Amino acid sequence: MKQLKAIIVLLLLGALCQPALGKLNVVATTPDLASIAREIGGDHIDVTTLAKPTEDPHFVDAKPSFIVKLNHADVLVEGGAELEIGWLPALLDQARNSKLAPGAPGHVACAQGIPLLEVPSTLDRSRGDIHAAGNPHYLVDPANAKAVAAHITEAFCAQDEKSADYYRANLKKFTDAIDAKLNEWERVLAPFKGQQLAAYHNSWLYFGNRFGFKIDLFLEPKPGIPPTPTHLAEVITKMRQDKVRGILVDPYLNRRTAETVAEKTGATVIDVSQFPGGMKGTEGGYIPLLDHVVNAVARALGGSK
Ligand SMILES: [Zn+2]
Repeated sequence: MKQLKAIIVLLLLGALCQPALGKLNVVATTPDLASIAREIGGDHIDVTTLAKPTEDPHFVDAKPSFIVKLNHADVLVEGGAELEIGWLPALLDQARNSKLAPGAPGHVACAQGIPLLEVPSTLDRSRGDIHAAGNPHYLVDPANAKAVAAHITEAFCAQDEKSADYYRANLKKFTDAIDAKLNEWERVLAPFKGQQLAAYHNSWLYFGNRFGFKIDLFLEPKPGIPPTPTHLAEVITKMRQDKVRGILVDPYLNRRTAETVAEKTGATVIDVSQFPGGMKGTEGGYIPLLDHVVNAVARALGGSK
């Protein structure tokens, strides 16, 4: 009897996870990817996001419910470049969904085709560097968001040919919106071009490259390694020397540490998120998120408002 009950519960769970009829069932690893998937898929897809917007994408709390979601998915959208290497492969193994196997058309590794930065000449994880395959935080450059949107569009078209025109039209809408916004964002940040910034974690490199900031001082001695007093002392000295005025901090990092460094250097802590929903006012998706980041940086460096 107990067994029967367990089976019924599993069947019900399965039914709950099934998408509405005819819709593509999409799982995205992080909320930025989910947001772009929604822009393209609109009401022709159902999207589930695994990581919370306030969660470190390198260290996501892998819940058993994720396995059920992956088991029922038609498409998996992941960042790749080893961003999810600490938590996704084991879930995929357990989900036993051949549609999402690496290399299968339902498995979209968005980093493919993105010119990754800081790719080491030799792979070395021995020193705890979680960016061993290059910097995986490429989506904070809007040009890369367009490339990812195109990649996702092709995957959706392949899985759901009858909606291909719809997906391609949405891609054009998203791309046009990014192009229009890019001009605005560049204009807002133009007065600060060439300035140096610090960051807690090396997650803003691509943003810096796009908008002309040098972001090369990090509170973490290496990506994923917590700050040490010795390292922070060096960062503080360099920040004073170079008159660095801002420290970018993601919501899941230790803001208190950044505040201490800011107090000692006269810099401002700039609260930013890579993920829609990571901060108030960014829930609307990728474009509101970038709006927020651009304005937060401009406000901190402009010293007004
Ligand atoms: Zn990272």
